[in-house]
Amino acid sequence: MFRSPYPDVEVPNLSVFDYLFAQLSDDDLERTALIDGPSGARWSYRDLRDQAVAVAGALAARGLRPGDVVGLLCPNTPAFAVVFHGALRAGLTVTTINSLYTPDEIAAQLADSSARLLITVSPLAQGASAAAEKVGLEPGDVVVLDGPGEAADGHPSLRDWLTAGQPAPDVRFDPATHLAVLPYSSGTTGLAKGVMLTHRNLVANVAQSAPTLEMVHDDVVLAVLPFFHIYGMTVLLNLALSQRAALVTMPRFDLEQFLALVEQHRCTYLFIAPPIAVALAKHPLVEGHDLASVHTIFSGAAPLDAALGHAVEARIGCRMKQGYGMTELSPVSHAIPPSVDLPLDSVGYTLPNTECKLLDPATGEEIAVPDDGESAPGELLVRGPQVMAGYLNNPLATSDTLEPDGFLHTGDIATVTSEGVVRIVERLKELIKYHGYQVAPAELEALLLSSPDVADVAVIGVRDEDGEEVPKAYVVVQPGHELDEQGVRDYVAARVAPHKKVRKVEFVEAIPKSSSGKILRKDLRAREAGRL
Ligand code: ATP
Ligand code: MG
Repeated sequence: MFRSPYPDVEVPNLSVFDYLFAQLSDDDLERTALIDGPSGARWSYRDLRDQAVAVAGALAARGLRPGDVVGLLCPNTPAFAVVFHGALRAGLTVTTINSLYTPDEIAAQLADSSARLLITVSPLAQGASAAAEKVGLEPGDVVVLDGPGEAADGHPSLRDWLTAGQPAPDVRFDPATHLAVLPYSSGTTGLAKGVMLTHRNLVANVAQSAPTLEMVHDDVVLAVLPFFHIYGMTVLLNLALSQRAALVTMPRFDLEQFLALVEQHRCTYLFIAPPIAVALAKHPLVEGHDLASVHTIFSGAAPLDAALGHAVEARIGCRMKQGYGMTELSPVSHAIPPSVDLPLDSVGYTLPNTECKLLDPATGEEIAVPDDGESAPGELLVRGPQVMAGYLNNPLATSDTLEPDGFLHTGDIATVTSEGVVRIVERLKELIKYHGYQVAPAELEALLLSSPDVADVAVIGVRDEDGEEVPKAYVVVQPGHELDEQGVRDYVAARVAPHKKVRKVEFVEAIPKSSSGKILRKDLRAREAGRL
């Protein structure tokens, strides 16, 4: 077993709303909490708190009671923050929905989570209404935040709620057990699962991340990663608000707008996923912008290649760091603190209040932490106050993932050094078995990304003519460069052990990725299956 090198932090027994907003000083109230990137409109901490309280009142006036579930289908805007924290203030459980979902996917999540209300914005209202109808919700149960309002089109709007002047409800619940949110996992390995996270889970993860991520009062944080995904929800929305920092919201990633907003608002701390690192390291647009205000860029959600990260550091002139987490961990369990120099191919130290162990996937035996150097790889298990209550409506998946003693199986293979530095090797499920040898797709992807001819890449295991699993690379060629199949094979073969060679290559226009920045290997696999 190993744990954080940091002392434990106190996790107050508070609701998320009270933790973030009960103790705002006069000074804090006037500070900027949120800036809407596209319009430049600003919300102070007072605006945010008061509007959230008004939303809580409006939700209670509709008859919604603690424990009821509401769906939130909304890209990153200040209104997301207002409604999210208003619903939590009313004791409701928020199921955040991916804004790229189709009506069928939205309906599936609404049905699975038994949502009683769906809150959205006008660009997504059509799909939202179709989904709501499918699950038997009335038009009045679809709230269109920026819409014309209930009197005009039957859908309540945020303005209706803010002007209704309903008193905030008097709600009481136990933060340790009351469900705050039901985010769904990214669905990278299969169907997305509803993850039950309590108020305590969310409060704990903010308290645990704060000392490690070193975000401060004066930081201006660009919120481009979606708030609906647990990374954006905890590390952007809740952590930044807990520090009384400012968040600049971006509804979707667009490199030009991303760079322009950093420049315009003098953003200091950027949280990204690896696809944005690829753009920051390689895209010509970056040259035309003054990004000197940025002190740290932090990557999570998928493996960051160290060479790529260092290229970003050099080009932007800032520190690049990495962390690790998953929806089931609220999400953070590991991070490299900005002020500490640790290898960028690691995910740094275990967070405070968190214990880990590594299990040999073949034998289930615990792997020893060495006195010196790096351990053997094993499945990472994590225990701490950020571990989920379980999967919704899925006791089997829950008991497969959570041990009776509180340890959660991450499904990721990792190593740890004698100093407590953790490195994620690969997902257990993604490892390619070539003639009995294990090949990690992430390692080959990192290697290929180091080629100037490669703009992007993904590797999966496919069956060759003899039914043997072999690594196959999907490659996007850097514009203006030339690269053929032999070139790809040779580049890899010159740099790895023979069993790790890429044995199949396909050139593509783009790599399928989720909006939280993960390579959708299942889409590539489906494509392969479609060919058979
Ligand atoms: P699903 O569980 O539905 O298949 P998912 O696991 O991708 O999808 P998330 O909870 O969003 O859904 O992602 C957690 C996973 O992301 C981790 O289990 C791990 O595999 C991966 N991950 C996150 N951060 C890192 C990182 N820094 N390095 C490597 N992998 C990471
Ligand atoms: Mg997962």
